[in-house]
Amino acid sequence: MSKTVLVSGGAGFIGSHVTVELSQAGYDVIIADNMSNCDETNYKGVCAILGKQLPFIKMDFCDSAATEKLFSENKIDAVIHFAAFKAVGESVAEPLMYYKNNLVSFLNILQASREHGTNVLFSSSATVYGEPDETPVTEQSPRKPATSPYGNTKQMCEDFLRDCVAAYGMHGIALRYFNPIGAHPSALIGELPRGVPNNLVPFITQTAIGKRECLYIFGNDYPTPDGTCLRDYIDIVDLAKAHVCAVSRMIEGRMEEPYEIFNIGTGRPVSVLELVNAFEKVNGLKLNYRFAPRREGDVTAVWADPSLAERKLGWKATRTVEQTLAAAWAWEKHLAGK
Ligand code: UDP
Repeated sequence: MSKTVLVSGGAGFIGSHVTVELSQAGYDVIIADNMSNCDETNYKGVCAILGKQLPFIKMDFCDSAATEKLFSENKIDAVIHFAAFKAVGESVAEPLMYYKNNLVSFLNILQASREHGTNVLFSSSATVYGEPDETPVTEQSPRKPATSPYGNTKQMCEDFLRDCVAAYGMHGIALRYFNPIGAHPSALIGELPRGVPNNLVPFITQTAIGKRECLYIFGNDYPTPDGTCLRDYIDIVDLAKAHVCAVSRMIEGRMEEPYEIFNIGTGRPVSVLELVNAFEKVNGLKLNYRFAPRREGDVTAVWADPSLAERKLGWKATRTVEQTLAAAWAWEKHLAGK
């Protein structure tokens, strides 16, 4: 009998790609989303890629009764929790909104998971490492004090999961994502930033298509080979596949510890300038960019040691940054109807 996975925030950028990979791996997927930060584009894209309608429930996980109802009406083997606010700057301006939304929703999911014996996968972030003392970072690298309420919610949710696993005999995995970029090769799902994008790749593609006049590269005086920041850009489809590995490890009882953490990255540092150059080269175009002052709160360099995920999950990033940037550009063109 096939197993059922609930994807909270399944209509978003990462959730939609994870839904596709889970479904293609044979899982029954229930998508739940309150649509507060997206429209139906990705949900429709998921159904088009899969050639079938997936169950979709419009709901807010901050509603504890609705959460409990969902878990009691469906036999859910694992839940993957994405439904959260994610804009760092906004979280600084609106901390209560972030704490309420991101923490309460996860507490409700943990409560229901405890009662129904559901495995829990939490979408964490490399932001928990802050400015690391050493690179690449392993899962043992220290977490640094969060520099924003958003970052704090990632650390707190990791701790909620760890403590619930320890107290209630549950099983949980936290995946720490580095910088997810790109889009599905079909160009039917991808990132849909509202307003001016905060993240680098949507800003690049929107500049290339003419929606933005100029890309500003934040800082070229960092202590790195070309002066721009180093990050670990991970292809969204590769990242989505890591969830299939993690979910099957939980559901099939292959976990070595009841709470496990894995870095999900490529292990390759890429500078902002290298990424921009690669985008221009693979897509055969010139990008209008300019150097600008550093952005407050940016760390100089962070990239993953992903070897634990390779050893334990049997997962490894496979796509090149060029392939990923070509997919990101195809998605932007798809959005523009080109
Ligand atoms: N960045 C940039 N211009 C932009 C957006 C981002 O130069 O318009 C840089 C940013 O300073 C960082 C890198 O791109 O070095 C990745 O930023 P992003 O916001 O995508 O992810 P972060 O690593 O901050 O989570």
